[in-house]
Parts: sequence; structure tokens; C-alpha cells
Amino acid sequence: MEISYTRYRIYRECPWKYKLLFLDGRRIPLVPKSSYGLSLHRALEDWLLRGETSLESLRESLRSKWLTDGYPDEAAEARWYSKAERVLARFHAEESSRRSRLICAEKEFFWDLERHRVRGKIDRIDQAPDGTYDLVDYKTGPGVPSSARVAADPQLRFYALGAGRALGVPVSTLTMDFVTAGERVSVPYDPSGEETLAADIAAAANAIEAGEFAADTRYCPRCDFLAECPYAKLL
Ligand code: SF4
Repeated sequence: MEISYTRYRIYRECPWKYKLLFLDGRRIPLVPKSSYGLSLHRALEDWLLRGETSLESLRESLRSKWLTDGYPDEAAEARWYSKAERVLARFHAEESSRRSRLICAEKEFFWDLERHRVRGKIDRIDQAPDGTYDLVDYKTGPGVPSSARVAADPQLRFYALGAGRALGVPVSTLTMDFVTAGERVSVPYDPSGEETLAADIAAAANAIEAGEFAADTRYCPRCDFLAECPYAKLL
């Protein structure tokens, strides 16, 4: 099977949730926070891929990629849009002063793992002045985790593994760019856990193929299906 990071993460959180989303076709409706985050990602992707540099072009990307779904009314949407404009203006100022060079943005990768195919899309890879590569992931939520959590983050590590195996890019640094908070956390990448991660991705893909979807209730309190799931547990 083809396994992306999202599929892998959700299967590891709760196999039953995986089944609801990817086999039964259930959808999680957008709310202001998720709609805003998706719009920011879409705007940054559009702007980086167009290779534009001006703030006005970034504003244009936001206008053209803004999603209107998920807001209770127009006034709420307008407030989130203004916030997105402020956040991107600050992002643009920081981007203009960066010394690293953009190597690729929204870069898709595929690599074969046993009989499966691993797929992912990396927000961007930069090359530092010393020639090393920095894998960057945009985050639009308000919180900024510790360096230790960024170093251990499964999404960044999944992408760093893909960058090496599929793109031949030896990542040296992992960076989370908290666009809304205006902060970045960069940590050295330690590839020593790559074989373990690859084995776990393969194990998840094997279990999905085998139809193993037993509920795992550890993540119930923050699950979107909490109210309706027969296996849900709050504690
Ligand atoms: S509520 Fe709990 S058991 Fe049900 S899908 Fe969500 S995480 Fe899984």
C-alpha cells in the first residue's frame, strides 16, 4: 500500500480512527483554526512555488488561496483573515533577511519500503551558507514546543527519512517554523533512529493491509470522533 505521514500518524494514534477516515470516508469538518491554518499553508505554497518575492505577491497568494469554509459568519472570517495578513507580513520581513537558500518547496517524495510505497510532501528544504540542508515544516498553531520535542517530532523525522531515501538530500537540521507565533525552532538532525522508524512504518502498513483496526483509546480526549465513537474513553 501507499502510506503517507498522515495515514501513518493516524494509524498509530488509533487504528479505528484510521478506518473511519480512510476506509469509511468520514470527514472532519473545518473549524476557524483549521481553516485558517490550511489557508496559510496554501498561501505559502503558492507564493514559494511562484518564486515571487514581494509582500504584495504574498498577499495575492493569500487572497487567491483563502478558504472561506469553517467560519460561523463573515465577521469571524474577516478577523481570521486580518490575522493571516499580519502573520504573513511578519513572515515576509523575516524571509527577506534569511541567509539560507531555498532548494525546494512543497516537494513530494516517494520511496519503496518492502512491498509498500512511502509518500510525503516536505514544506521546504533550505541550504545554509555552509552547504548543509535544513528541512523546514510550517506550523500555524499558537504553541511553540521545546527543542527536544522538535528533535523527536515524528513528522519531521518521517520527512527527513524521505528526503534522504527518495531525494538524496542529507538533512542536517530540522526546523519548525511557527508562522503565527513568529518563532522558529531548529535542532540538529540525528539519523540514528531511521531504521527503527522505517520498520515501524512498514509494520503500520502491514497491519492496515491485514485489516487490523482495534480502537486505541489513548488519544480519545482530543479525537474529532469522540462524541459518536462507541469505543471512546475520556480517561
Ligand atoms: S474516540 Fe477514541 S477510540 Fe474512537 S476513533 Fe477516536 S481515538 Fe479512536
